Amino acid sequence: MGNPAAKTVHQTKMDRFAHLKDSIADYVQCKERILTGLEDEERIEIQKKKIMDRLGATEEQWNDYKWQLANRFTDINDFADLIGVSPEGIADIQKVGRTYRYAISPYYLSLINPGDLNCPIRRQAVPAPDELRPDGYLDPMDEAGWTPVDLVTRRYPDRLIIKVTNVCGMYCRFCQRRRLIGESDKNASWDKIKAAIKYVRENKEIRDVLITGGDAFMLSDNMIERLLSSLRRIDHVEIIRFGTRTPVTLPQRITENLVNILKKYHPVYVNTHFNSPREITKESKEACERLANAGIPLGNQMVLLNGVNNHPHVVRKLNQSLLKIRVKPYYIFHPKMVKGTSHFWVRIQDGIEIMESLRGRTSGMAVPTYIVNGPGGLGKTPILPNYLMYIGTQKAVFRNWQGKTFEIDNK
Ligand SMILES: *Cc1c(COP(=O)(O)O)cnc(C)c1O
Repeated sequence: MGNPAAKTVHQTKMDRFAHLKDSIADYVQCKERILTGLEDEERIEIQKKKIMDRLGATEEQWNDYKWQLANRFTDINDFADLIGVSPEGIADIQKVGRTYRYAISPYYLSLINPGDLNCPIRRQAVPAPDELRPDGYLDPMDEAGWTPVDLVTRRYPDRLIIKVTNVCGMYCRFCQRRRLIGESDKNASWDKIKAAIKYVRENKEIRDVLITGGDAFMLSDNMIERLLSSLRRIDHVEIIRFGTRTPVTLPQRITENLVNILKKYHPVYVNTHFNSPREITKESKEACERLANAGIPLGNQMVLLNGVNNHPHVVRKLNQSLLKIRVKPYYIFHPKMVKGTSHFWVRIQDGIEIMESLRGRTSGMAVPTYIVNGPGGLGKTPILPNYLMYIGTQKAVFRNWQGKTFEIDNK
């Protein structure tokens, strides 16, 4: 190597790669300890067996979503010992349950790690005394004020949502629509759904219809087919989206039959809702793959939740793991100020820190948009760490993901 300049170039490159390696060393070190459900399969399997014993269930029943739904746990006395709840804990849960109902599918219950009181699955599914704090609002987004006809919320010019049911496989403790999760499970009547479809038909600018709830996939296959075929008869409806947490809380719902119906009405999109790497299991992976194999693009809408996923490494692991099961992280929602959920609230800075830690350090595919919802219905508002440091009549100055600044002409 007689050429000192070449050596310098070589050395510079080596320094660069060493620096890149360094920039994710902290994550590489701890990602092994943030377990996905797939990586903790043995423990989950043990819980599953215990729950099956408790219910006298066969494997065939376990794999049947109707059985899962009918056997949701709604009384803490039936499962306190399975997840290690103390007698005082039982009393607390019963007290909260009188205000906010709970129901946990046997499958989702099996994901709780009984040895971990801070288990992110437990936190999402099992009532906590903090839910009785008075902070927050029942309908912070004023959905009631943006409802042109029953079931419909329309906040944007070219798209709307239809809430077809108040049923879910599991009632999330941080639910934004707790006010609609009453004493009983109710799918909307076909008459009401028909009226919502009529509204879409009569408003030609609606090109994107989002079916949600509750959980859109709680409708029967027949009802879903009826809904899809009616919407597809409307020329100006370009895309149809479903909002469903069933791949996460009730993956048995994603049957061959359902998928065969959905794929007849393309373009159909599904947005699902994983919040924790622990929710990525053999079953949820299969559910997502079944949908993806039917040509349905899958997005994930995560809610940023204190004690569940408010850590940059947890979100990075979650988003990378989602890409492995063909789900594209779409949104991270800042928690809404819903009454009964204040123990999940985080600060905007926490969300920005997570976004900062994703960009550059992992695939752009794993970087969703961070959204704050404007109260009263002002809508989804994106926030990013600030990369544009200055913009003037001559130039714009930026910083990159590593904090290095650069400028470009902007005349
Ligand atoms: C979230 C939402 C939508 C969809 O928003 P996108 O940004 O298009 O995903 C549409 N209507 C309402 C009322 C919503 O809350």
